[in-house]
Amino acid sequence: GAKQKKEEATIDEKTLTHPCFSGGCQNARMHIPVAPACNISCNYCNRKYDCQNESRPGVTSKVLTPEEAVEKFIYVRQKVQNLKVIGIAGPGDALANFDDTKKSLEMIRSVDPDITFCLSTNGLMLMHYADEIIRLGVTHVTITINAIDPKIGALIYREVNFMGVKLTGEKAARVLLANQLAGLRYLSSRGIVCKVNIVMIKGVNDNHIESVVEKVKEYGAFMTNIMPLIPAAGSVFENMPMTSNKELNDLRKKCNIHLKQMYHCRQCRADAIGALDEDLSSEFMNDKCVAPC
Ligand code: SF4
Ligand code: SF4
Repeated sequence: GAKQKKEEATIDEKTLTHPCFSGGCQNARMHIPVAPACNISCNYCNRKYDCQNESRPGVTSKVLTPEEAVEKFIYVRQKVQNLKVIGIAGPGDALANFDDTKKSLEMIRSVDPDITFCLSTNGLMLMHYADEIIRLGVTHVTITINAIDPKIGALIYREVNFMGVKLTGEKAARVLLANQLAGLRYLSSRGIVCKVNIVMIKGVNDNHIESVVEKVKEYGAFMTNIMPLIPAAGSVFENMPMTSNKELNDLRKKCNIHLKQMYHCRQCRADAIGALDEDLSSEFMNDKCVAPC
């Protein structure tokens, strides 16, 4: 009815003011690093290296408690113009730390009724928490889906810990995929705007990505964000070849026929603050980096 219409309009407005979903508007977003744990192991990840000199997903100088995150938000809100989005993007997985994710968002909502809530996840627990995510007022969700073929998934994911059960190989990839797709379908059907991130890994999934894009479109994805592999030091994929910008953009163009593509991703840190091309996170750090790198 009318109420539903109004809510939909609000989500559309939020999409237009969200720097990652809008096609590059200059508004600022703030990541709160409240999610240290992860429930899967990707071969390109090494969360041991958390350094302020590095900029890639999964990196933060410090993990915050929900209380600290709210305090920081209130402080940053006074200093950063056009802060429109609060996102949780690790340094682990937002849904593997659901209690802290939930507490942080509830507390921030109580001091700011309007700010857009964004979550980024590997999707393993997406179906499990879908209704809670909606209830919390999260309108934008990013799911990283690197393969829709468990054989390829098995090359990317070393282990999946699904509600206490440790899985490996194709079984792990299959369980992860089933949850990612079910969550994507469910949230999309309820008006949540879902973006799918795909890490382009040369020789592993690069020829498979177009099929991933077609599949996630079918399940309701709003856009895909194909990103180049940034192999973390100490990770299994440490010595994998990098993708050139040309290869990346050629693939994005090819996939653009099927679904809207993101061309302006900055692969932000878990504590990123600011517009996409001006990371202010170091201005708001109060601790020196203690990482070994
Ligand atoms: Fe959301 Fe990712 Fe943008 Fe952060 S960088 S606000 S998690 S889409
Ligand atoms: Fe690392 Fe993210 Fe993969 Fe977890 S889901 S292992 S934090 S890259």
